Amino acid sequence: MAALIDKHGRPITDLRIAITDHCNYKCVYCRTGNDGAMYADLPFSDYLRMARLFAGLGIKKIRITGGEPLLRRGVVEFVRELSKLHTVDGEPLDLAITTNGHLLAEMAQPLKDAGLRRITVSMDAVDPDRFRRITRVPNGFACVLAGIRAAKRAALAPVKVNCVLMRGFNEDQIIPFGRFAREEGVVLRFIEFMPLEEDRVWSPNIVVTLDEILRRMAEYRPLVEIPHDRSETARRYRFDDGIGEIGIIAPVSHPFCSHCSRLRITSDGKIRTCLFSVWDHDLHELMRRGASDEELVAFIYSVVDRKEARHHIGEPDFVPPSRTMVHIGG
Ligand code: SAM
Repeated sequence: MAALIDKHGRPITDLRIAITDHCNYKCVYCRTGNDGAMYADLPFSDYLRMARLFAGLGIKKIRITGGEPLLRRGVVEFVRELSKLHTVDGEPLDLAITTNGHLLAEMAQPLKDAGLRRITVSMDAVDPDRFRRITRVPNGFACVLAGIRAAKRAALAPVKVNCVLMRGFNEDQIIPFGRFAREEGVVLRFIEFMPLEEDRVWSPNIVVTLDEILRRMAEYRPLVEIPHDRSETARRYRFDDGIGEIGIIAPVSHPFCSHCSRLRITSDGKIRTCLFSVWDHDLHELMRRGASDEELVAFIYSVVDRKEARHHIGEPDFVPPSRTMVHIGG
């Protein structure tokens, strides 16, 4: 079957599957203070069928996300099943999970044994009080730190730590995070705050940009840029003594849409062609109605054809996406 290439010439090689939109954290840049999964989860067999179809269409990398994916009972078994799939070149899929890490201490080794290769843990402060203010849960910091250390012991490699910076909340954590990356041996990824939160508080002034992060981090130690593969979302740097790597994902100040290789599947089985899309494409509804693999593949090609050229964050014609991050899967 022909590989997935959109009408802008971008090969689609990276799929993110949200397996729930329920989350036990209420991070200020993502959730409201209320509880609330909004959409149904599907049986794992449905996600697995989708993954198998996408693997046959050139997908190389699958990231399991949510909501909080480790809340979903059966996730270890799902990873085991995914790890049996192959790319069109006969290679194992590159499998990863993004998690808040709250339940990771217990699950890191079982996930590794099931075939997971690497993990990204979200952690937005290295100061426990600040962490509580951002996540709005008590006692989370110790759990997440234990999760990160368990992931390292389980040889999930690399362990990446995602930090969303918001002015007024955690921009003073930049240098402490630099130290943390060096001491804990994790790869750090700062992410610019995007207008994807339920509370709709985003404004350009709250975004801590790539340039500012670099400036502040350089006050701690000089950084050396690592040559950038154009398909990578993060610009990567190492400290001058070679100890510790940081990356900056800068969709707001340095958009990388022209190299976007991603599609997302929401927990209720809709394809999303862009985080900022105003459309959902209902793959699961076709499955529910008994569509054959051939019909599903034809639908996937037609959806890829509608992938947006770029986002319009900060522009006068910006239209908020039809779902917020927790209901898409980051
Ligand atoms: N619950 C998991 C977690 O915490 O990593 C997975 C889902 S979460 C939506 C995935 C990633 O999206 C996290 O790293 C989170 O920090 C990031 N994220 C959420 N809202 C964001 C926003 N408004 N701007 C930038 N990143 C955001």
